[in-house]
Amino acid sequence: MGVYQDLGLQPLINAWGTVTAVGGSLMAPQVLDAMREAAGAFVDLHALQRRAGERIADALEVDAACVTAGAAAGLVVAAAACAEEAAEQRPPDDGRPGECLMLRAHRNRYDAAVTAAGLRVVEVGSGDEVTAEELRAAVTDRTALLLFMAEAEGVAGSLPLEIVAAVMRERGVRVVVDAAAELPPRTGLARRFAAGADLVVVSGGKEIGGPQSSGMILGGVELIDRCTALAYPHHGIGRAMKTDKETIVGLMTAVELFARRDESARFAEWERRNDELLRGLRGVSGLEARRHLLTRPGIQPASIPRVYVRPLHRTAAEVAAALRTGDPAIVVGVDGDDLALNPQCLSPAQVQPLLRAVIAACAPRVDPIEVMNFH
Ligand SMILES: *Cc1c(COP(=O)(O)O)cnc(C)c1O
Repeated sequence: MGVYQDLGLQPLINAWGTVTAVGGSLMAPQVLDAMREAAGAFVDLHALQRRAGERIADALEVDAACVTAGAAAGLVVAAAACAEEAAEQRPPDDGRPGECLMLRAHRNRYDAAVTAAGLRVVEVGSGDEVTAEELRAAVTDRTALLLFMAEAEGVAGSLPLEIVAAVMRERGVRVVVDAAAELPPRTGLARRFAAGADLVVVSGGKEIGGPQSSGMILGGVELIDRCTALAYPHHGIGRAMKTDKETIVGLMTAVELFARRDESARFAEWERRNDELLRGLRGVSGLEARRHLLTRPGIQPASIPRVYVRPLHRTAAEVAAALRTGDPAIVVGVDGDDLALNPQCLSPAQVQPLLRAVIAACAPRVDPIEVMNFH
């Protein structure tokens, strides 16, 4: 861990999750070994990109895949590919940008990718409500794609992917699903394609456990070919978002491990970590703890059960800030009045230090004057 300490930085205990700002995820030794090996020889990057895409597609049981420098880069390339395809099908360009439809309730911090691809986002619905009819009416001859945020599927102002995709199909518009952080479960991928997605964009640096700066676009052969032609190492829009040979090999290795992983064993492991946390927090003063499975979007992926801790003497945000600057330094999620402890990135050895720190940070503060009077 010397590299971080040399920089005066504390390695973090991560009870937050696969959050990019704290490092995404950790890579398995097999992934690191494969990357080290990849770093030892030159290779044709075009051929590597193509072969890795085939292997990833096979492992995930999808038609085709294109490796990108993260899911956000995948969204840029996917949007550009849809725009290129749409531009070939509509009257000569008059210079105005193509349009990307988004349900207003789906707007998010990552949709800047669409603007980076030279498109204009056109919002549909009020944010609280939207109808299939509004969606249908929003399609123009400039519409290049609809970007659907998987995490927001269930919010007010959204529609099920099936309905959105059916309307878009009717109008000949591609649907790109941002499912960057929606794994597990693995079955989520097939579900989105069955619902009518043309492309699904996934982060390699989250649950998959690949390099943090890797991602992929999954979909049909023809559209993925278009993506690949725009992606690194071609000199299209993707050239500025480089995926080196180590990253490509690392992602492919991580995907193959992910595809074979015993997912139910992983869920069972998370439940055990949560049980240990709950046992340690039961009856402790200054807090209330409970198991919590998200029913609404907000903290991804919602499928992973959390331990929610409500501090009784200060706000969850204050406790989270104290944990972050503590020793050990710990990052946790905050969901309203609760700390959301996520077992996804916790090692077994980190559970007890986490417990001690949470209990200390939630303990009622003793007023020094009161202590003096007491004596
Ligand atoms: C993390 C995330 C992204 C970006 O993924 P990267 O692989 O970090 O580029 C995009 N969209 C959503 C919803 C995300 O959670």
